[in-house]
Amino acid sequence: MKSKINTQKIKAFFKKNSYYMIMGVCVLAIGAMITVAVVVGSKGSDATPNEVINPDNNNNNLTPQPGIDDNVNKDDTTVAPPADELPDTDVITPEPIVFGLPVSAGTIIKDYTMDTLVWSSTLKQYQVHNGIDFNAEEGASVVSVYDGTVIDVSYNALHGNVVKVDHGNGLVTSYSSLAGPTVTVGQIVYTGTKLGSVSTSATAEMSDGAHVHFTVSLDGQTVSPYDYMVIGDK
Ligand SMILES: [Zn+2]
Repeated sequence: MKSKINTQKIKAFFKKNSYYMIMGVCVLAIGAMITVAVVVGSKGSDATPNEVINPDNNNNNLTPQPGIDDNVNKDDTTVAPPADELPDTDVITPEPIVFGLPVSAGTIIKDYTMDTLVWSSTLKQYQVHNGIDFNAEEGASVVSVYDGTVIDVSYNALHGNVVKVDHGNGLVTSYSSLAGPTVTVGQIVYTGTKLGSVSTSATAEMSDGAHVHFTVSLDGQTVSPYDYMVIGDK
């Protein structure tokens, strides 16, 4: 009898509490799912930073934004030293400007002497000479010594007909004592483009005969033509 009563009691207990037991199992199951989800989720978020995406994105934000993709940024960081050297080579790369001669067949009759005085047979005085005088047969062509743009075609009694050519970066060549300038202001000229011809139009150097008085200036200051041209041993 006792055992019967016991099993009946147990059955009655399960009947009464089956609802709570099922709920209990469900709660456990839900709890397990949440746990799994959290673990997987945290593994997922761990994986993200390892994917090198975040660091790169940070780089993109930090670099002053050349607007380039990840690969280029990686190159920038690894090739940084050479990149610093590149501007240097860019500065060095431009070949030095070397002038041609303003006359094809001529001789120097008066040299560039800004630090010593030379006798002027026309003005009967010692003075500096801020350029090189090339003489040639009257009418011989005077040509541009380098590529540039004509910025002045003018006449004055002392220097006669003058043509000035701007070669860029403040470098200007001037050709005085010309006859018949054959270019106009604004005209593009090249090495060898005829500007005029030698003459005695510069009264300040009249007694030197037909020649071209050739000067070079950099940023408005007269400089030695020999900085840009090689004549003989100079
Ligand atoms: Zn001269």
